[in-house]
Amino acid sequence: MLLQKRAAIALGLRICSTHVIKRPLIDTRHSSDMAEFRKDFSKAKHIAIITGAGVSEESGVPTFRGENEKWRKWQSQDLATPEAFSRTPSRVWEFYHYRRELVLNKKPNAAHLAIAECEARLKKQGRSVVVITQCIDDLHRQAGSKHVLKIHGSLLETRCVSCGHVTVNKRSPICAALKDKGAPGPDVPDADIPVDKLPRCDQRDCHGLLRPNMVFFGETLDSHILTKVEKEMELCDLCLVVGTSSIVYPAAMFGPRVASRGVPVAEFNRNATPKSEYFTYHFQGVCGTTLPEALAQHESEDL
Ligand SMILES: [Zn+2]
Repeated sequence: MLLQKRAAIALGLRICSTHVIKRPLIDTRHSSDMAEFRKDFSKAKHIAIITGAGVSEESGVPTFRGENEKWRKWQSQDLATPEAFSRTPSRVWEFYHYRRELVLNKKPNAAHLAIAECEARLKKQGRSVVVITQCIDDLHRQAGSKHVLKIHGSLLETRCVSCGHVTVNKRSPICAALKDKGAPGPDVPDADIPVDKLPRCDQRDCHGLLRPNMVFFGETLDSHILTKVEKEMELCDLCLVVGTSSIVYPAAMFGPRVASRGVPVAEFNRNATPKSEYFTYHFQGVCGTTLPEALAQHESEDL
């Protein structure tokens, strides 16, 4: 029993995927009544918005998680691991260099903007909005969101493997040796950059190897961020689950946990997900279309 409990806790703290449920979910519990959702929205004082790759996808940010979304021969799960980084740091850095250059050129879309605008507007009314995101790009902040918890870290931050120093790094290219490297085609050979030419720490007397400040598959999530997420999950009186397939843990359990307290949870996604049946509302479609309507100023709002 104790062991089971320990295993469950360990699972809860690590980033991992579960298989997608292929069968269609038969569901009679949730509603897609926007007018009903808007009533709950108008009453909410603390809104938690959990976002995933679907939000960034609409800005053209690929996730490298589907069979058709490969970088060379690999998917994210093959390269975003501590083992891959220690075995082939040059290849992993080429992959992340490519992804960094991609996101540096992307712009927030209507979903990001609707969330940021809602946060700013509700703040004036003494109400709060927090974004808890699995996205590793910077698009929520670029859109203007202030209160953002990035549970999987950031593509645009580095962490030194020797001294642990974390810093925002938006250099392009991140180092001379990676210039024009990282092309994604299936036949592109590895650049095999010597490890001392990969991004290195600039802290005094360190010069350690840098890595993207992200949570790799199989790694533990940042406990400080998780503690903040826990508090928000306890505090919120409305929760939105946006653009996430709810298959990557622990984020996949946040929405169902809030729902188990009897708090309304609304899912906004292109498709039903393995967790849709737990939620009060499900709005199917492109988040850039559904969210602006859902988060627009309500007639009861006093500005
Ligand atoms: Zn260092």
